[in-house]
Amino acid sequence: METLFTNATVIDGLGGVREGQMVCVRDNVISDVGLASAATSESGAKVYDLAGRMLMPGMIDTHLHFGGGDYDPGHEHDSVGLASLRSVDAIRRSLMAGFTTIRSAGVRDHVDIDARDAVNQGEIIGPRILASGRGITMTGGHFHEAAYEADGVDEVRKAARALIKRGADSIKIFAISPGVAAMGNDLDTAAFTVEEIRAAVTEARNAKKLTQTHSISLAGTKNAIEAGVHSIDHGVFLDEEACQRMIDKGIYLVPTFGPFYYYAFKRIAESWRSERAMMTIEPHRKSFRMAMEMGVKIAMGSDLGAPSRMKNGENAVEMQLMVEAGMSPEDTIVAATSSAAKLLALDDRIGSIEPGKLADIVVVKRNPIEDITALQTDFGLVMRDGVVYRDELEA
Ligand SMILES: [Zn+2]
Repeated sequence: METLFTNATVIDGLGGVREGQMVCVRDNVISDVGLASAATSESGAKVYDLAGRMLMPGMIDTHLHFGGGDYDPGHEHDSVGLASLRSVDAIRRSLMAGFTTIRSAGVRDHVDIDARDAVNQGEIIGPRILASGRGITMTGGHFHEAAYEADGVDEVRKAARALIKRGADSIKIFAISPGVAAMGNDLDTAAFTVEEIRAAVTEARNAKKLTQTHSISLAGTKNAIEAGVHSIDHGVFLDEEACQRMIDKGIYLVPTFGPFYYYAFKRIAESWRSERAMMTIEPHRKSFRMAMEMGVKIAMGSDLGAPSRMKNGENAVEMQLMVEAGMSPEDTIVAATSSAAKLLALDDRIGSIEPGKLADIVVVKRNPIEDITALQTDFGLVMRDGVVYRDELEA
C-alpha cells in the first residue's frame, strides 16, 4: 500500500523547508523524500497533488490533560466510566487538530493509560498516547485530589513503582511547586525536597520511563533541576543559573503558556484564578525568552484540559502564544515536532519528514511560517501511522 504526496512544500520538522518535493509513504513508513524525479514509487499508489501546499510532521503535544474530557467543574465527580467516555472525544479532537502524538500530564484514575491501550488496540480513534496515570504529589500538594500523595523518599519511590506497574510511560511529579492559584502572595515556595524528586526520577530512569513536572516557582524548579528531571513544565520563574543548569543537564523547558493566557485574558475560569495568572504573564515570557536566548532546549506542550478551560483540539493555540512570546514560527514548529520527539525519546520514529520515520503527516493549506494560526484552522490532511484520519484537501 503506497501513498504519494507530489508538489509538496516540505517543512521537515528539523528547521528546513524545501519546495517541489515528493513524499512517498509505504504502509506506515515514510519510504522516500526528494525531488519528484528522484523519489521512487510504484504504480497504483494513491496520489495527492498538493499544488505547493505545506506538508509537515504530525505535531506532538508533550503536556496536556484529557481524562474526563475538557475541564468542567460540573464533571469533577463523574464516575470513572463517564470520565473515560468523555475522554474518547477529547483525544479524537487532538488528532483531528494535527497532533498525532500527545503526552498526558496527569489524570484521575489512570484514565489516560486505558485510553492509550484502547487506541493501540484499535478500539477508539486517537493520537499516539504517552500516559502518566495519576502522577505523584505530596500530602496536600498540587493535584492531591487525584494523584498519589507520597511523603519522603520511600513513599515517593513506592508511588513511582506503582505508576510504572500500572503502565505509565512518564512519571508526572506535581509537587515541585504549588499551583499558581494556591501560592498566595509568595510565588517562590517549593514542595518536594530534592531527595524526594530524585527518588521518582531514579525509578523512572531505571525503568527507561520519562519524568515531567509542575514547575512554577523558582525554588521548586531549582530542586527539580538538581534532581535531574527530563523537563521543567510551565517554568514560569527562571533565572540565568536555572537556565544554565538546564543546559548542562540537557533538561527541556515546556513553557505551556496556554493556561496562564486563558486564565488571565479569556477569563473563563474563576476570577481568583485570573487575578493570580495576571501575575505570571510577564515573568513567564521573560523566563521563556531568557531560556531561548541562552539555548535551553524547548518542546511544545499546551496544558489544555486543565481548569483554564482550554479545550482539547485547541493545542496549536499554544504555538501562537510561543510566537507572540518571541519564538520564530520556524523554531516553534521544531519545538512541536523534532524537539518534542526528542524529549519523549521517540525521535528515532517520529518528529520529522525523513525516510524511515513513521508516516505521521499533516498537510496545511496556508503557510504556518507566515502565519502560525494556520495550524489552528487550515488543515488539508492528517495521517497517523500511514492512516488518513482527516482529508479536506478538495474542500
Ligand atoms: Zn498540566
